[in-house]
Amino acid sequence: MVEFVIGRNIKTKTDKLIAADKTETVLKQLNTEEQKLSADIKKLKTGKIETYNLGGYNLHVSLLKSKMSGEDWRLLGGECFKKMQHSREVKIAFPGAKAQNIYEFALGIELAGYRFDKYFTKKPQSFYPELEKIVFAGTDLKNMDGYKPFAGLVNGVRYARDLINEPANALTPEIFAADIKRLEYLGLKVEILDEKAMKEAGFNLALAVGQGSLNKPRVGIVSWQGNPDNDEIEIGLVGKGVTFDSGGISLKSPNNMGEMKQDMTGAAVMVASLKVAALQKIKKNIVAVVGLVENMPSGAAYRPGDVVTSMSGQTVEVIDTDAEGRLVLADCLTYIQRKFEPKYVIDAATLTGAITIALGSTYAGLFSNNVKLAEKLKAAGESSGELLWQLPLHKEYDEQMDSAIADMKNLSSTRKAGSATAACFLQRFIEKNTKWAHLDVAGMDMSDGKKCLYPKGASAYGVRLLNEFITRL
Ligand SMILES: [Zn+2]
Repeated sequence: MVEFVIGRNIKTKTDKLIAADKTETVLKQLNTEEQKLSADIKKLKTGKIETYNLGGYNLHVSLLKSKMSGEDWRLLGGECFKKMQHSREVKIAFPGAKAQNIYEFALGIELAGYRFDKYFTKKPQSFYPELEKIVFAGTDLKNMDGYKPFAGLVNGVRYARDLINEPANALTPEIFAADIKRLEYLGLKVEILDEKAMKEAGFNLALAVGQGSLNKPRVGIVSWQGNPDNDEIEIGLVGKGVTFDSGGISLKSPNNMGEMKQDMTGAAVMVASLKVAALQKIKKNIVAVVGLVENMPSGAAYRPGDVVTSMSGQTVEVIDTDAEGRLVLADCLTYIQRKFEPKYVIDAATLTGAITIALGSTYAGLFSNNVKLAEKLKAAGESSGELLWQLPLHKEYDEQMDSAIADMKNLSSTRKAGSATAACFLQRFIEKNTKWAHLDVAGMDMSDGKKCLYPKGASAYGVRLLNEFITRL
């Protein structure tokens, strides 16, 4: 964690960054010795961070675009973190920047500075940032109090990343549920349904997915009542929490199967979004329902060909036990709609490999039955930097989910439009009048470390997006 403080003098001989949109503004911030670099600095290209060694300390200089978006400031923070992570203390001057710009920059620093290190017994040196303190010098800000909501957001992102990075032996459905329960200290209401309670409530599809594993399923229900004058739940969030997805009897190939510990990204993102809402004391009523199961093959496992009656009463023929996420989500969607009747329902899941083929690691897929909701989500994506691309829900995709012996099947018989047919399956569990959106984050859940705001490992993609959406709503 980096400490952010406000200071005055930028002209000291310490590691520093000076960034502004005009060369003259940068030059004014230099001390006498640094003035020697004026000629070089005048040749700087916009958007690059240049580093000069001044014998004892580094001067970083950046010429900013004249119009910087929030994401531009966050990315600048992320890039600076990469450059300055091995300095203990850095002074920063952004002459002319607004408070909001400084907060976004600081957010970028913290997003880029995340590390998951608990399993190293010998800590690799290069992996470790040494950056402890950033001093914002020469700003109108008196203190960093305004950063508080951003710190709440960072806390949520870190929480989700920690959960997703945990291996599946350390994060079973039961452990995940116990972790969620601890969030009550923030004023969140948390209810955990164990297997017996799930049976009583009718989570038959989710139970079928989990029945092959020794680690029994759970459902987590997290509520935030930020608007106690109103009974209505404005936002209902549903997350897929498959703590390990072996594929079940329709076993996956061993290549990269270890990555399937992250198949609970949707659940982690939704629970973390509630944590952020509590930390930011958002004045809205929000509920998250997450289905936590482990999908394993065994003598007790559900089989291809099984027919299961969902909580909604509709029957599902299981074609492929590896298309389990939609089964877990289906019951959670029915539950949240019938119990809480939220105005908007949004689900997030690492649902289909097909979405990665379509959109790569640039956009998450968005499906929605409501134009306004989709527009609001896309706008929140643009401004948060966590982008969404909308794909269609068409009758022809839906028809592919018809089964010969039950109301529907869980996998279409062609491989075409796999993300859309999955979304159409979910839509069959959306009740009349529910404004619903489905986020397929399968291509976005893990980072290769090339994007500076997402260090290698879990990205927690969606926490920033949903925070933006919830705040603006
Ligand atoms: Zn699967």
